[in-house]
Amino acid sequence: MGGLGSGRRSNSKATTSDYGRLDVRSWQRQGLLAVGRFVCWPWNVEVIMSPNRDEPNMIRLYHCNQSDQHGEPHPVRLSWTPCNYGGKRAWFICPRGCGHRAAILYYGDSSPSCRHCRQLSYESQHDSGWHRSLRRARATRMRLGGSANLTEPLPGKPKGMHWGTYRRLFSKATAREQIFLGGALTVLTSLEKSISRLNGRV
Ligand SMILES: [Zn+2]
Repeated sequence: MGGLGSGRRSNSKATTSDYGRLDVRSWQRQGLLAVGRFVCWPWNVEVIMSPNRDEPNMIRLYHCNQSDQHGEPHPVRLSWTPCNYGGKRAWFICPRGCGHRAAILYYGDSSPSCRHCRQLSYESQHDSGWHRSLRRARATRMRLGGSANLTEPLPGKPKGMHWGTYRRLFSKATAREQIFLGGALTVLTSLEKSISRLNGRV
């Protein structure tokens, strides 16, 4: 009870946010794939790259329990594709059997697998418009190589990105942030009104 994957809503399809989320793009960005061994927070999943030279793209995932004991290993293969701006991009090969490339594996009550194998719908399909605008603003920031944190400034042009692309993404990110902030202001205003009403009743 209460573990990952137990938050499934009744009468509705499980969504991606009900599961632990392992994102190989963020591991690659943080340089973790070169480290060979790390723990993925907050899911408490230990990731160990294969020490076997014959399996350079094989990693093993261990879900650690509260006393940090390893569970059964889940082997996952990585695959690499060339990027538009040079370098290589890492992918998981879904270990559930579909064999498709996936940037994100979902980790719940059993072995990790891609969204399709878990038959998950994106949380965004259930989102209110306001949450969707936040998710979109974050996604555009990250395409620019920036942080998902809206309080941080947007980054400068990444090396290798065309100025035209940068300008387009920059103005998209700014527009999306404005939409989100407009929604946030509406929520705050309505909260303020509720508080005033409550105060008026005392
Ligand atoms: Zn799959």
